[in-house]
Amino acid sequence: MGRKVKAALFDIGATLVSGPEVSPARQLASTLGLAEEEARRAADLLMTREFSSPREACAALSALFPLTAAQEEAVCRLWAAQETAARPLPGALEAVRRARDLGFAVALVSDIWVPYFRGFLSACPEIAALVDFCALSFQVGRRKPDGKLFRAALQALGAEPSRAVMVGDTYEKDILPALEMGMFAVWVLSRPEKEGEALARVLAGSCPRPQAVVGGAGEVARALEEINRLLKEK
Ligand SMILES: [Mg+2]
Repeated sequence: MGRKVKAALFDIGATLVSGPEVSPARQLASTLGLAEEEARRAADLLMTREFSSPREACAALSALFPLTAAQEEAVCRLWAAQETAARPLPGALEAVRRARDLGFAVALVSDIWVPYFRGFLSACPEIAALVDFCALSFQVGRRKPDGKLFRAALQALGAEPSRAVMVGDTYEKDILPALEMGMFAVWVLSRPEKEGEALARVLAGSCPRPQAVVGGAGEVARALEEINRLLKEK
């Protein structure tokens, strides 16, 4: 019975919702004046721990590098802004709804920190209500492309990789790991300018090609119908 489960895994940022043009990690780096390596460590920390408040996040950050009072205030402002920054992308709700209608169990697989996930929940309550499981970096303790996030979702839903599809906008984090695990993939090119290099490698045949490439969330429902047909033939 469990072998029969179909699963649709959705990324959140730039797949289901849009937010500020500049990522929180980049905003934090510029606000705090961090060098690249420090910024990467700060982002890893913020995305892989379940902080209950910005003060708690600041306390953890200050173990990496001391924060001035002004910098703490900046982190608190960024946190607050992130809680209201998410906006559903056109067609996102319909995509998740279609996945359910086609009989897919639904999970979210996302690199995300607490305030932006709260922002997603308040911007997209109807999508959230359709989700069976969330594999989130701040809960799992790993960031994509780490397979642990994908495996956590598949295991929770009881689905084999061969009966699962990943829907996401970032080739390296969403599409490639899914294809390498034997899943189907729908590449949502909502920000094609960020995916140019990956697109070139896929077109050149040096990286595996997802089953569908679409221009936005509004085209995902139809791609899922096609993948559902492929699953029926298997
Ligand atoms: Mg994304």
